[in-house]
Parts: sequence; C-alpha cells; structure tokens
Amino acid sequence: MALSCKRQRDRATIVMKQILYLTPVLREMLWGGRRLAEFGYDLPSGNIGECWGVSAHEKGDCTVRGGRYDGKKLSELWHEEPELFGGGPAVYGDFPLLIKIIDAQDDLSIQVHPDDAYAKEHENGARGKTECWYVLDAAPGAGIVIGHNAKTAEELRSMVTEGRFRELIREIPVKKGDFFQIEPGTVHAIKKGTLLLETQESSDVTYRLYDYDRLQNGVKRPLHIDKSLDVIRVPFEEKRIPTVTRNVDDAEITRYVDCSFYTVYRVAVNGAATIPLSGMFHTLSVIEGSGYLDGSLVKKGDHMLLSAGYGSVRAVGNFTAIVTRV
Ligand code: ZN
Repeated sequence: MALSCKRQRDRATIVMKQILYLTPVLREMLWGGRRLAEFGYDLPSGNIGECWGVSAHEKGDCTVRGGRYDGKKLSELWHEEPELFGGGPAVYGDFPLLIKIIDAQDDLSIQVHPDDAYAKEHENGARGKTECWYVLDAAPGAGIVIGHNAKTAEELRSMVTEGRFRELIREIPVKKGDFFQIEPGTVHAIKKGTLLLETQESSDVTYRLYDYDRLQNGVKRPLHIDKSLDVIRVPFEEKRIPTVTRNVDDAEITRYVDCSFYTVYRVAVNGAATIPLSGMFHTLSVIEGSGYLDGSLVKKGDHMLLSAGYGSVRAVGNFTAIVTRV
C-alpha cells in the first residue's frame, strides 16, 4: 500500500515537472523570406514567413522532441496528459496559445481579427484572435500598421469602398525591442523588414481588408470586406500598456502584457537565476543566446513548454527568452 502510494507520488512528480522541447512547423508565405534560418531551423525552399514554435492548431501541430513523449504531437499530448497542462481540455477547451516567429520580407495584408463572440457565431465556433508582437529586429525606417484614421463607421465604409487605404491606415515606426498588443477589431499589418515573435490565441481567423492588389499564383488573395467592416472598432483608440521590470538574481524579467488570454514576459539571463513560475504551464521561446534550464541545454530558436506546477526553474547562461502563460 505504502509502496504503491509512493509510486503514484513519483509518477506525479515525473509527470508534473517536464520541459517539453517542440519541433516547430515552418510555413511558406507570399511575403516571407529566409531569415528564420538565423534561429537554426532547416528551412525548406521558398519564402518561409512563419515558424509556428508552440502550436497544437490543426494547420500546424508541433511535435515533441526528445524525452518520454518524443514524437507526440502537441495536440495528442494535450488530450492524453492533461495534468501536464493544469487540466488541459477540461479547463481550456482546445490548446489556447499559438506562438510564432514571423519574417516579413514584404508587407503583410492589412487585416483585422474578430473577437471570440463574433468568431464563435460566424466561424464555426473558432476562437477569435487577440495577438501581441515582440519586435526581434526591424530594418531602418520600417513601419507597422496599427489602427486607422476614420472617425465614424460611415467614414470607414466610404474610405474602404473608395479604396482610400493610404489615408485610412495609421502607420507608426517600429524598432527592435518594441512590444504591441493587438486587440480584436484593430486594423493592423506587419510590414516589410520586420522580424517578430507573436503570441496569440490559437486561431487562424483573419479578415483581409486590403492586400495591395498583389497576385499569388496569378490571382488576388480573397478579401473579407463585409466581415472586416463588421468587426473594426471605430474610432481607433490607442492603448499603451506600461511594462513592469524586476530583477531575480542575474535575470531581468519584463512583463509586457497581462490580458484575459495570456501574460507575456521577456526574461534575460546573464549568469544564474532561480526563477519562480506560477502554477500554470508556461511556453518559452529562446530568441537570443544559449544556456541551461535545470541542466537542459537551451539555445536560440528553441521552443519549449514547462509543465503546470513546475515550481521554480534554475536558469544559467546568457540568453533571452519570451515566456508566456495562459
Ligand atoms: Zn493579425
């Protein structure tokens, strides 16, 4: 009896304290490039625009690399070992997060995402999309589109139907280290020359408002004008979220956003630090340098999940990571 209790306890400990390395899914995009090779990925040919580093989405499901779950899809593990994720499907439904690195060698379409309520009703129960961007690099003079200049819904409609996009969109300069939270209903676009890490709700619902009249395989990609006009918030109101920075041993921890879908931190380790984690599972994407997490080697381009109830993690080395929790 005592022995079986002990065995159960050991299993619980093994299950609870896991670092799961994920093999990303690389996706070719009209506007992509070759810079994702800088993260050590073996790129297929073509314009590779997105690395889905942490994803259990049906359009790009990451595979666990190494350890006791080697070869499992993240979506399988989500259902088979829910205790790794603090309850998994019973608590969150589908895996809730999607972490991408995006290499924009050309402008992405001007787009907008619905919120959860609109997506549920109009997109077969899909999630809406709240997303945020941490800028990894930006070419001199690079810009980004966030928001629009229409004062009323009527003005928005006429600017869109008359194709006055230059007048409509609000473009701002962007530089390395900037952070932006993009709420549903916000017109936005990543533009040429920007490399960024995106944390978002696990959703692929995008309404394309304008695509610069570009052709893909000889045809224009479809636009979604009516749905865009349905969901765009008018007028646009800029929200700046204050960042909070603290030091833990030799680590600098900056919190960028804490919303109802995710909390995003940047953790920069220069030496050694014991970093406390909340009880939830965390994702961790290394964007610079290398080091060790509880003795496991981590390096630029690695994407990991730390199981729920992990406790604190010992970080050693010189590296920077974006850490997210639901
Ligand atoms: Zn978007």
